[in-house]
Amino acid sequence: MDLHEFQGKELFRSVGLSTPHGRVAETPDEAAAAAAELGGRVVVKAQVHVGGRGKAGGVKVVKGADATRSAAEEMLGMDIKGHIVYRVLIEAASDIEQEMYASIILDRGAKKAMAMFSPMGGMDVEEISRTQPQALARVHVDPLVGWSDYHSRRLAFESGLNKDLVRPLGGVFFRLWNAFTRYEATLVEINPLILTGSGDFVALDAKFSVDGNSLYRHGEVAEMRDVRASDPQEQLAHEKSVTYVKLDGSIGVLGNGAGLVMSTLDVVADAGGSPANFLDVGGGAKASEIVDALEIITSDAKVKTIFFNIFGGITRCDEVARGVLTAVEKMGIQMPIIVRLDGTNEAEGRAILADAGPDNLYVEATMLDAARRAVELVAQTA
Ligand code: GDP
Ligand code: MN
Repeated sequence: MDLHEFQGKELFRSVGLSTPHGRVAETPDEAAAAAAELGGRVVVKAQVHVGGRGKAGGVKVVKGADATRSAAEEMLGMDIKGHIVYRVLIEAASDIEQEMYASIILDRGAKKAMAMFSPMGGMDVEEISRTQPQALARVHVDPLVGWSDYHSRRLAFESGLNKDLVRPLGGVFFRLWNAFTRYEATLVEINPLILTGSGDFVALDAKFSVDGNSLYRHGEVAEMRDVRASDPQEQLAHEKSVTYVKLDGSIGVLGNGAGLVMSTLDVVADAGGSPANFLDVGGGAKASEIVDALEIITSDAKVKTIFFNIFGGITRCDEVARGVLTAVEKMGIQMPIIVRLDGTNEAEGRAILADAGPDNLYVEATMLDAARRAVELVAQTA
């Protein structure tokens, strides 16, 4: 789960990292009041789950309550790369001497955390790595051993950081590591990490992603979920407790069992199609569960056909077939639905669908045939 900048900064402060003083505002008046309270120059920052706000007009340095009110007026409701701005963060402007980059991510391939640092920050890490590869240092951290001073020293020396800053940088990374582990994050990024005129490190931005599966251990972080910021289908799936992941293709996919659904995605891709989602209905044979699943899938306008992949085990194919029929009839779905039934009572299941199924229901015996049929039917709707 991604957090907003102001939420990430709250967690940063809880581990002792410095951030500018700020207030969150949902209206231009609240923004003006915050600026008056902070005094002097302030920065108005759009709170959306996307980077590059600076270039998109989502970060403005202004002075005084009136200028803050107009900047907030302009920013609130703005669409930044498909994300609507509902809140702005008003912060006391900082005295920037240098912009640097610091992050810790979960490196799944290495089964370790990986810390990155560059004395040249501000731009995206991809850009730093392309334009200043020698100035971007990386170090892996064994999760069982944790953070040690030598990790910070290596980052500092390899990236060519000024010697006087090695010790203070160690303090930043030690705290950043604490934030990463305490909140079970998958990513913590400070870009820019600034050095102020008085020689202090301050986190001017915060990117914070936590492992959604660990949220039950962190009530205060779980409450930071912003339903307005999440994808509408994923939001619906969350409400209905359905295991759903949005992808960007045109073939809606559902099946019983995570492994089966994952292979279905591969088979669809192999047949030349692109899956619109991952959805595991679990043991779901009940019409109500299938209705829930189909509601989520069909609410995605990109979906042109639905591929239902069922392997009958404990849940028998004839039960699933009845559930599918009831759900499809109840919802009045018009687009093609391809059903692959295999396993226990497959013949009965297929017979039920063949007898009672509407014209837009296609029954196939193998995954590959069903995937090919789905791809063919998408091409016809285009
Ligand atoms: P992002 O573009 O979404 O990553 O937003 P950031 O929070 O990183 O801000 C983008 C840029 O705005 C930073 O790299 C800074 O150069 C600038 N900026 C942000 N806050 C301040 C500030 O307090 N004072 C000044 N002068 N510039 C700021
Ligand atoms: Mn940034």
